[in-house]
Amino acid sequence: MMNSREWMERAVTRIPGGVNSPVRAWNNVGMTPKFIDRADGPYIYDVEGNKYIDYICSWGPMILGHNNSEVREAVIDACGKGLSYGAPTPGEVDIAEFICSHIPHVEMIRMVNSGTEAVMSAIRIARGFTGRSKIVKFAGNYHGHSDALLVDAGSGLMTQGIPGSAGVPEGCTKDTLSAVYNDANSVAALFEANKGEIACVIVEPVGANMGVVPPKDGFLQTLRKLCDENGALLIFDEVITGFRLAFGGAAEYFGVCPDLVTYGKIIGGGMPVGAYGGRKDVMKLVAPLGPVYQAGTLSGNPVAMAAGYAQLTLLKSNPSFYRQLTEKGEKLYGGMEEILKKNSVKATINYIGSLGSVFFTEKKVENYEDAKTSDTAAFADYFRFMLEQGIHLAPSQFEAMFLSVAHTDAEIQQTLDSFSGYFGG
Ligand SMILES: *Cc1c(COP(=O)(O)O)cnc(C)c1O
Repeated sequence: MMNSREWMERAVTRIPGGVNSPVRAWNNVGMTPKFIDRADGPYIYDVEGNKYIDYICSWGPMILGHNNSEVREAVIDACGKGLSYGAPTPGEVDIAEFICSHIPHVEMIRMVNSGTEAVMSAIRIARGFTGRSKIVKFAGNYHGHSDALLVDAGSGLMTQGIPGSAGVPEGCTKDTLSAVYNDANSVAALFEANKGEIACVIVEPVGANMGVVPPKDGFLQTLRKLCDENGALLIFDEVITGFRLAFGGAAEYFGVCPDLVTYGKIIGGGMPVGAYGGRKDVMKLVAPLGPVYQAGTLSGNPVAMAAGYAQLTLLKSNPSFYRQLTEKGEKLYGGMEEILKKNSVKATINYIGSLGSVFFTEKKVENYEDAKTSDTAAFADYFRFMLEQGIHLAPSQFEAMFLSVAHTDAEIQQTLDSFSGYFGG
């Protein structure tokens, strides 16, 4: 049987960097990635048969734990009927109605195939609605890899040493204005300098692609106010936070109502799905109802819809899941915080609900500049130690840890023991 190193040797000759998404290559931690064979509950197994407690959870989608039997059965049932038709199906109506009936600010929704596509489309419709071109995003927020949004983006761009990206013409980013996260004044200044020209402000309501950076009190509320005063739309990119912080995502959690929202990750139950939705008067502009074009051959795919619908139904019918996730987060991240304090470690931990990050910096981390003060070599050393202990963390300082409802006290305690072992407590 081939091991991970041998798989990687084959992979790199035919796939750029050996991977289909950059962060998976483990370049940031100077290692060869583990090739995964299977996963179950809170555990993931590599091709060598090693077992790890998984805190990546497919970067969020596996909020119920890996290989949930009800989601799996829904997929198998859907597969029995055929994989794709390119025609409307009842499953698309079910999931759209389900989301709209439980999330008040989503009056209409359109399914796409990734978070990237969802954000691209939401921006287009915001421009179509307002007749304006400029958009405001925040440094360190990631909104997928479309041209206009690769400006001061987080996630893989923070550690790959790529300033934005090659191959993006200036024309594509000249209307993208970059603001400072958690600093509403920086947004007010952009509105002032670009009067009547800004179509929308797009924000990760909890920053989760520069490590986890929660919004300061009042930040999201002030964005809402600034958008209203200036006739711009507020877009919450809830690709990570949607169905995670609460069923209604960060909008519900913080009580701030965006005009448009984008989803991905959890919404597909592990299948490639994204969605954008929001105010009916805005969504009515989408083709074929209106003049804003957006389409997808495989959008609303019946197998993907079955997976997403099964997962969302489970989340909605078990409201205690959200309380449990918060308790697990408190246990894990709160426990880590105590260990750091007890050992006087020069590190900072940010967390909210099931999301958390340890930053190897003494600074409080409230924005992109703060996050970038982290010692990434120290992170890499910590990552290697935890992996040896059977803990599968995101291989980058600037990604979140994801808890699922399948992580029990036993896994959390084992993780804290390893954490304590590393920091010498
Ligand atoms: C992951 C992510 C995206 C991009 O989603 P893909 O499915 O990878 O295209 C967009 N926005 C946020 C906040 C994300 O975390």
